[in-house]
Amino acid sequence: MNTYDYDVIIVGSGGAALSCAISAKQKGLSVLIITKSSPTASQTVQAQGGINGVLGDTSDTVEDHIKDTLKSSSQIGDEEAISFMCENAKEAIEWLDNLGVPFSRDDTNHIARRQLGGASNKRACYSSDYTGLKILHTLYDTALKLSIPIEEDCMLLDILTKNNIAFGITYLDIKTTQIEQITANSIVLATGGYGGIYHGFTTNSKDTTADGIMAGFRAGVELENMEFVQFHPTALVDRFILISESARGEGGYLVTQDEKRFVDELQPRDVVAREIYKKLLNNEKVYLDLRHISKDKLLHLLPQEYKLIFKFTSLEMDKDLIPITPATHYTMGGLKCDITSKTSLNNLYVIGEAASNGVHGANRLGGNSLLEIVLFGKKLGESLESAKDYFPNDEKTILEKNRKDIEDIFNTVPTLDFYEERKKLGKLLFEKVGLFRTYVSLTTALEYVGYLITHLHHFGIEDKSKIYNTNLQDFLEFRNSVLCAKTVILSALYRCESRGAHYRDDFPTALESYKKSTIIKNDFIIK
Ligand SMILES: Cc1cc2nc3c(=O)[nH]c(=O)nc-3n(C[C@H](O)[C@H](O)[C@H](O)COP(=O)(O)OP(=O)(O)OC[C@H]3O[C@@H](n4cnc5c(N)ncnc54)[C@H](O)[C@@H]3O)c2cc1C
Repeated sequence: MNTYDYDVIIVGSGGAALSCAISAKQKGLSVLIITKSSPTASQTVQAQGGINGVLGDTSDTVEDHIKDTLKSSSQIGDEEAISFMCENAKEAIEWLDNLGVPFSRDDTNHIARRQLGGASNKRACYSSDYTGLKILHTLYDTALKLSIPIEEDCMLLDILTKNNIAFGITYLDIKTTQIEQITANSIVLATGGYGGIYHGFTTNSKDTTADGIMAGFRAGVELENMEFVQFHPTALVDRFILISESARGEGGYLVTQDEKRFVDELQPRDVVAREIYKKLLNNEKVYLDLRHISKDKLLHLLPQEYKLIFKFTSLEMDKDLIPITPATHYTMGGLKCDITSKTSLNNLYVIGEAASNGVHGANRLGGNSLLEIVLFGKKLGESLESAKDYFPNDEKTILEKNRKDIEDIFNTVPTLDFYEERKKLGKLLFEKVGLFRTYVSLTTALEYVGYLITHLHHFGIEDKSKIYNTNLQDFLEFRNSVLCAKTVILSALYRCESRGAHYRDDFPTALESYKKSTIIKNDFIIK
């Protein structure tokens, strides 16, 4: 009889994964982290603005945090999940503080707070504009000290299941092109969101291709609210590097080429992003104007952005107008789970941006994602159990299927170039399934994705080496992106109204009949 290899396998190594791994390990469980990149390369390191939490030392209140989050969710957030998150935010931030996250401090040596869009008070704790990086590095450091094994360059392929119980995963070892399976009592997906499917038009890294979400979907877990994709108003033109909300929070203006302001800069992200995009569609240019703020202040508040913008454009924030564009930034949809991160598949859990647990609804409030990943990761790690009496099935059907699939990919002589199509897909999604959507734009996108799906066997890899074959990884990610794109478009077509980040030109108002989540099952039936 077989035994489990580990109590817990966590897929991913961003903030959600590491928070979960640390608390599970501290509880005495055997934990393995499997990740396709390295912890220092996740989305979490890119987060700049801050992590929300009411700490009880200012006029801010937990009730206001709940109220702001509910408002931003546009009436489809889950009140219980939101209350749980806001009420426990202090615990999550104190935990990070105790682990050693170097939060910026105010004059009284308390953790400093800044106000992000949609917040009724200064609520986001930050570490200059390196908040995610500092959190991630502290968590990674802690994981190393706890000797948590981290298998890097290993890409999740599928989830092993039997009788509606998840008991392991299959993965591709990118270093050797071996495909292996590994078992555990609990499987945790912490693989991030799907912003990367808008390839070339996103602030996310190129590998946020919904691998974990699609693996869960193939295993039978429902997807929720895939149509809700958040577009950030200010990214650097062409480079799509985020210029965080704090730039506007600190008094930055948005202006056209004739230097006229045209929108209240502090309105919610989706409203500002749409106003900017309208100008760009009208062949006008839009700039962020911070020239009235001193260089010292900018270097103090936004040092990372100041340096990045100078590095890529030679523009200086205190002297020059910065050309900006909206960009795909965050994805609210994901694998449906409850407030304890459980999915409908027993022993399969999902946390972080891959999860849809009700805390964001139709639009995420800035600063709430870092809070969600740390809090839900930590809480899940504390609640997981060691393996008891159930012994995993030693069936190898999925493993053999994956091995055959990779062999077929190696044997295929590609007649179409998926790198070209990846670019086209990103552009098409941004234009047709972006800030403004219509029945016509969505069906055009669906048609194209249908074409990609029926021609998948004509794509393949040119590089046939078995060592660090990134061509193979890119191709597997492309397949996940195409499948994910279909779920986003179908959900967007289904929602014949405008709500939160989802704006339909042909249905510009919110309707009572759509005041609910969109659920999509793995036979693509929507309810
Ligand atoms: C530029 C930028 C700025 C942001 N600023 C803020 C902010 O100020 N405040 C805030 O609250 N939020 C912010 N966000 C959002 C926030 O950073 C993310 O939502 C959050 O960090 C996601 O964390 P995660 O752990 O769920 O996923 P990630 O950090 O994305 O990690 C996912 C992990 O899964 C791994 N993975 C993926 N697929 C596979 C696979 N097939 N096999 C194995 N491993 C896999 C990846 O390699 C990675 O390690 C920002 C996001 C961006 C892009």
